[in-house]
Amino acid sequence: MIDLRSDTVTKPNDAMRAAIAAAPVGDDVYADDPTVNALEERVSALFGKEAGVFTPTGSLSNQLGIRTLVKPGEELLTETFAHIVRAELGAGAAFSGITTRTWEGDHGLLVADDVMSIARPDSGPYLVSTTAIAVENTHNFGGGTVQPIDEIRKLRKLTHDVGIATHLDGARIWNAHVATGISFNDYADNFDTVSVCFSKGLGAPIGSMLLSTKDRVAEARIWRKRYGAGMRQVGILAAAINYALDNNIPSLADDHRRAREIAAACASVAPLAVDLKYVHTNIVVLELQGSSKTAPQINSELKDAGILASALGPHTLRLVTHRDLTDDDISKTNSVLPALLQSAFKS
Ligand SMILES: *Cc1c(COP(=O)(O)O)cnc(C)c1O
Repeated sequence: MIDLRSDTVTKPNDAMRAAIAAAPVGDDVYADDPTVNALEERVSALFGKEAGVFTPTGSLSNQLGIRTLVKPGEELLTETFAHIVRAELGAGAAFSGITTRTWEGDHGLLVADDVMSIARPDSGPYLVSTTAIAVENTHNFGGGTVQPIDEIRKLRKLTHDVGIATHLDGARIWNAHVATGISFNDYADNFDTVSVCFSKGLGAPIGSMLLSTKDRVAEARIWRKRYGAGMRQVGILAAAINYALDNNIPSLADDHRRAREIAAACASVAPLAVDLKYVHTNIVVLELQGSSKTAPQINSELKDAGILASALGPHTLRLVTHRDLTDDDISKTNSVLPALLQSAFKS
């Protein structure tokens, strides 16, 4: 099977497994795991933050970030298709008593003035106060779009002026960096808390991290334990992540090229399905509105041909490239998918 459902489906290769086997470990709840401690220092330095706390998932690192920025009953703003409000099962409300309001961005793309037009800081005793804004980069359901750095900087300035904090859901910040050449530091500078994932394109089996100031990370560490995610000899996971950081960032460019090849083949026969202007990284979202087939139908036809994709809704199909694919897999996909789209859009 050619698995294009997600960039989370990659498996550790032999070299990563060797790094796992060789890792020095200790009890991380006692801050005794040298590999985890070194990884937290390494990644905080990479993003220019004072400290980091290792988490099993990106949902948890997002939740720890917003937990430290927004008090119960206060408000977080985010884009309407952001992972934080669409794919974390209401965790902000369920765990932290946080309320959310959303704006809608074209393919998830940030426009700072639009966001600020709905922000309501310091709303007094009768209305909800906006205390933080979360930005997703790249934007998953937006089709892997890269947020424009100028809009990010503008949002930072405008929020700073009125005392609103900012959180970056940087699950795929690696992809944004590779696509633009903008440094991790330059992105992270604009946010009070930053969440990054190692289990997507980087190919580690598990792991995310929340990055921020020493104080905020100390607070997040307490909440991590309270939520039940204090972990013990997890240096074996940190070692896999070290391996991924050492070896797996540059080849994200191949994932991007391959996603573009798939998108271009689809757009050439079904221009309504995908606009190449929005294919920035490793995700291709196909919109099937106006075709004679639903996303689950095309998905099952693909499956019959040995290709797995994700139906995100009745008319939306997502394909994600990753490091466990080959150029042959892409050629095979392009010998099947465009023909299916062509017939779906013909009638
Ligand atoms: C994958 C992802 C996360 C974290 O997901 P987990 O499955 O909890 O690790 C967060 N944000 C975005 C945008 C993601 O794609």
